[in-house]
Amino acid sequence: MGDVNVVIDGEKVSGPEGNTILEAANEAGINIPTLCHRPDLTPDGNCRVCVVEVEGAPRLVASCHTPISEGMVIQTRSPKVLAARRTVVELLLAGHTGPCVTDECAKDCELHYLAAELEVGPPRFQVKKRRSYPVETLSPYVQRDMGRCILCRRCVRACAEIAKKNVFSMAYRGFRSKVVVDCDVPLDKEACRDCGICIDYCPTSALTKPKAN
Ligand code: SF4
Repeated sequence: MGDVNVVIDGEKVSGPEGNTILEAANEAGINIPTLCHRPDLTPDGNCRVCVVEVEGAPRLVASCHTPISEGMVIQTRSPKVLAARRTVVELLLAGHTGPCVTDECAKDCELHYLAAELEVGPPRFQVKKRRSYPVETLSPYVQRDMGRCILCRRCVRACAEIAKKNVFSMAYRGFRSKVVVDCDVPLDKEACRDCGICIDYCPTSALTKPKAN
């Protein structure tokens, strides 16, 4: 496979065929923010934070799973891209049921970092909030607070692809979408051992280590 030549933000960049726009940009030192993406997990493209503008394309594309092709001209920070990215982050914040905006966990939350980086203020949208859920404390290894979940599915993929378990899956649709264990039962010590990888990959504080008693 040969190299593919593209232009990203006015800079000539080449990368191996099959590389994504995100990979090509990263290798050229051009930062595209991501949320659901991690380089060691299968790209999912569900959050849309990494959208970019490709000349001639009818709509913005998710850079994490769009391969580069010869002659592509890509904008990663055009006004259209920045507006879309801000809207995505704003909607994620607006749909949250957790008290994260004010409490301590906000300082470790990638969504809040992203909101600050993109200069997203308090959500303007009155969107239907996702359901609130009781915090699950049965497992000695992972505490789940699904009110703080942004449905990025990093935990689902990390558990399946790295830990080689399949403790989590997606269930329900729309505002009821949820990361579930089995048929939506609380996580307990039978379902999950103590690898903790889901906690490491969770960008919010939906998954945390239980506090020692
Ligand atoms: S629990 Fe965390 S890692 Fe899993 S989908 Fe929700 S925010 Fe993402």
